[in-house]
Amino acid sequence: MSNPQPTRNATYIGGPKSRRKAYGSNHPLAIPRVSLATDLIEAYGAMTEAEFMLARKAADFELEWFHTPEYVSAFKRAEALGRVSNPVRQRHQLGTLENPYFPQFFTIPATATGASIQAAEEVIRGRIAFNPAGGMHHARPDQAHGFCYFNDPVLGILRLRREGWRVLYVDIDAHHGDGVEAAFVHDPEVFTLSLHMDSRYAYPFQGGQLSDTASAGNTSLNVPLPKGTHDAEYRLLFDAVWQPVLDKFQPDAIVLQAGTDMIFADPLGKLGISTQGFLATAQTILETCPQHADGTPRLLVTGGGGYHPLVLARAWAGLWALLSGRELPETLPPVATAALRAVDWDMDEDEPHFEQLFSSRVDALTDMSVRPEIADLILSIQQHPFLHTP
Ligand code: ZN
Repeated sequence: MSNPQPTRNATYIGGPKSRRKAYGSNHPLAIPRVSLATDLIEAYGAMTEAEFMLARKAADFELEWFHTPEYVSAFKRAEALGRVSNPVRQRHQLGTLENPYFPQFFTIPATATGASIQAAEEVIRGRIAFNPAGGMHHARPDQAHGFCYFNDPVLGILRLRREGWRVLYVDIDAHHGDGVEAAFVHDPEVFTLSLHMDSRYAYPFQGGQLSDTASAGNTSLNVPLPKGTHDAEYRLLFDAVWQPVLDKFQPDAIVLQAGTDMIFADPLGKLGISTQGFLATAQTILETCPQHADGTPRLLVTGGGGYHPLVLARAWAGLWALLSGRELPETLPPVATAALRAVDWDMDEDEPHFEQLFSSRVDALTDMSVRPEIADLILSIQQHPFLHTP
């Protein structure tokens, strides 16, 4: 059973066919990501020309809705010079080991960011939008953080805010959406919800706790996940926050950061969630999202982290199918298998899940018992000041 035709109005924003490689060669992001996901979607025949939109570079004035003019101009100058000077490296965390220099240093992140602004405009005009190159949720107004140079989710949200919309940001990346949370602490019309690996064992190693109250202003809710959180546990935790937050906040639109490092096979992630669990979460968000008059969800989706190229490409192909209302076949088309096989990747080739990445659709939901610490966490969520006050 498969249905290659879209049944929802959705736009996929991506790069040109000839793509340059960012992040150099010795970095967790030096793997094919968006390009492989796009190849996979095309191998399924799951995108029409009308659904594809070419990403444009964000204008300086748009970047400066959030970023400082000093940061933007230092960043541009580094690309023009072909290197980052020491003062700029120290001041803005550009050209460090974590946020390395690469060719088209400014152009590539500025384009991924322009795409999130385009995505917001697509949502405003009545379509679902997916920008897989976006989701750079750690970037600060004047500093790169955690592989993130420009904070495109913040800029996409700000574009929606210019329409006067209340925005719920939900971040399912394995890491805390700290940069987005910090950006909207003083805006009661934006609420940020993040489920992530507990910062006591994972990047960014601070913040992101349930008790952290940016929610002093009731603008955020964090769910720190224990190591190994699996599908059944994640489902319970997600259900404990999702509908209550929706009911309470009553957004006009939702922005979803869909990093795939929350999936079990990710080399930087420490969670136990399946690809099917990832997609089930996205489906719940899609189905409960505020809608335009014609029933199209007001949903902007970005990519995010994800350091296993095969898992990432398969998860985002599945996500695009879900957003555009398509049914993908259970078995991968041979062209898709060939595209995945061509990737130079062997980190987990001895693991039991590896061969399945090239054959059947996705790994299945795991069925495991729920640990007591998860039950305790759910009780604490129910007592959270944002959900608890009438
Ligand atoms: Zn992440």
